[in-house]
Amino acid sequence: MSTQKQPRTATVKGPAEWFTGDVYVNAYYTGRAPSRTRLNLVRFTPGAHTAWHRHAVGQTLHVTEGRGYVQSRGEGVIELHPGDTVYTPAGEWHWHGATADNFMCHLALWEAPTDGDEPETVWGDTVDDGQYPAGE
Ligand code: MN
Repeated sequence: MSTQKQPRTATVKGPAEWFTGDVYVNAYYTGRAPSRTRLNLVRFTPGAHTAWHRHAVGQTLHVTEGRGYVQSRGEGVIELHPGDTVYTPAGEWHWHGATADNFMCHLALWEAPTDGDEPETVWGDTVDDGQYPAGE
């Protein structure tokens, strides 16, 4: 095995059970063992956002474009701008997405858990209208 380009991936629409609004995902890299790394580019249209969810080994987001939000359960909403990098610890419930009036694109980096039976991501309830910021 040597250094090699990875196969190009199609842009796919994020499933409605995980996302509110229109979200498009490219899964750029899914590591083969011993790598457990996953790298996606996620493009949120204005107002689109994830449902509440948690990652078994945490997640790092790097914002490449637009304006967005991330919020952990019980904490305040954090505004996201291009160049921001945010880390959400393992097992912490949170959501992320675009503001009401702008696109937001981020790279998402996370790992599969070492226990192959444990899900990488657990999805919960959608973010209520009262929880999602109404915008300025
Ligand atoms: Mn996440």
